Amino acid sequence: MTRFFTWVAFLALPGTLYIASSGSGGVLESATAALSGTRSIPDQVSFRRLCAGRINKQRTEQRFPIVHDDEPLQEKLERLVVATKKPSLLGLDEVFKAVQADFPGARQLSATLVYHPNPASLAPSVADWAQTAGPDFDSLSTVVFRDGYRQGCLAMLSSRLPDFDLDAANEKGGEFIQRCPHCGRHHAVKLARRSRTLILRCPDCEKVCEVLGSGTDGVLRRAPDFLTSYQMADNAALLRLPPAERLKRVYAAVLEHCHYAHDDNGSGSGNLEIWKAPAETWLDASGDCEDTAILLADALISAGLDARVAIGWNLQIGQHSWCVVRIGGVQHVLETTLEDPPATIDPIAVNGEEYRAEQLFDRKHVYTLAPEAKSAGMSPYLDCWNPAWWQAIPDSPLITKRERGLDDPAAFATMPAP
Ligand SMILES: [Zn+2]
Repeated sequence: MTRFFTWVAFLALPGTLYIASSGSGGVLESATAALSGTRSIPDQVSFRRLCAGRINKQRTEQRFPIVHDDEPLQEKLERLVVATKKPSLLGLDEVFKAVQADFPGARQLSATLVYHPNPASLAPSVADWAQTAGPDFDSLSTVVFRDGYRQGCLAMLSSRLPDFDLDAANEKGGEFIQRCPHCGRHHAVKLARRSRTLILRCPDCEKVCEVLGSGTDGVLRRAPDFLTSYQMADNAALLRLPPAERLKRVYAAVLEHCHYAHDDNGSGSGNLEIWKAPAETWLDASGDCEDTAILLADALISAGLDARVAIGWNLQIGQHSWCVVRIGGVQHVLETTLEDPPATIDPIAVNGEEYRAEQLFDRKHVYTLAPEAKSAGMSPYLDCWNPAWWQAIPDSPLITKRERGLDDPAAFATMPAP
């Protein structure tokens, strides 16, 4: 059976490296130069450009990566300086703390306060300071200010992880910072491009934050987004039947139409695990366990039934995916890799212990097994709708929307009329 879990590698967020320094080149007697007393943005921008030009020239010579703007961090520093009556008294510890509070993905920060009697020499002073910093920075922020009759600059070199969002992950992979929707703590996430099924787990509270699958187009999506409201061609007729009859017909149609096929069948691509949208599985008339489980759950939901896709372990098969359904208070495990429909659809008490789900999902939510459920008197696997055991992952504000074609109903084939 397909092995489709790839556990994402979590980087424990490395202790943020702070480097602080402050230098004083003297006191400016009269404010005369271009920087004089201003906190206006155009001057801030041109000063930053000036510094970045010098710093990047040095960094290029040293074969270090050049530094870019980090606008959110720049704005944060400007607000900090503006809020301070005497910026020269701003402690760098205080600055680091404030920056980390707003940007938990900040991995390395280096800052300095520079003063110079001649404002035109501020930029070279910032560049001299930057030369002592290491290669691991990718952004520069500078805030020039007037402090009484002095001119000064708060400069910061930084390297921070971007917030996790699916669009960015799909675009280039890499490292991100994610806020755990359960405990609210931040942690770093590294997405390996070869990973297909990603189960993101918080290293602090150890709960699952998100389940992502990779579609046939290579795009990572949230598991619920693979349920695309697919319906059987005779769905309207199905809806007039009693629920048990609907279940029987849809289950039989999926088993009879689709045969089991490995993702890498013929392609030799080995460990690549792809999740198909329901219409794709139907059109191919084949799929592996999660493909057919997704198709069946989606078609059952369209037929007015309460169904979920399960991913977890089967005691005989190993890693596996299947479908669970609930009708009138009775739950059933639906194995979707069978060649023929079973003679009877047993209640979950008969075979449920063999199917140990770790995650369930429907069109809206991923439900994850609560840690305390495993020590419950009754097996959590026998009640896939128990809200105390199967907890919906709260919506994470960092996870982006569903996108593109999969949501387009016109993109889906329906079952041809018999
Ligand atoms: Zn957590």
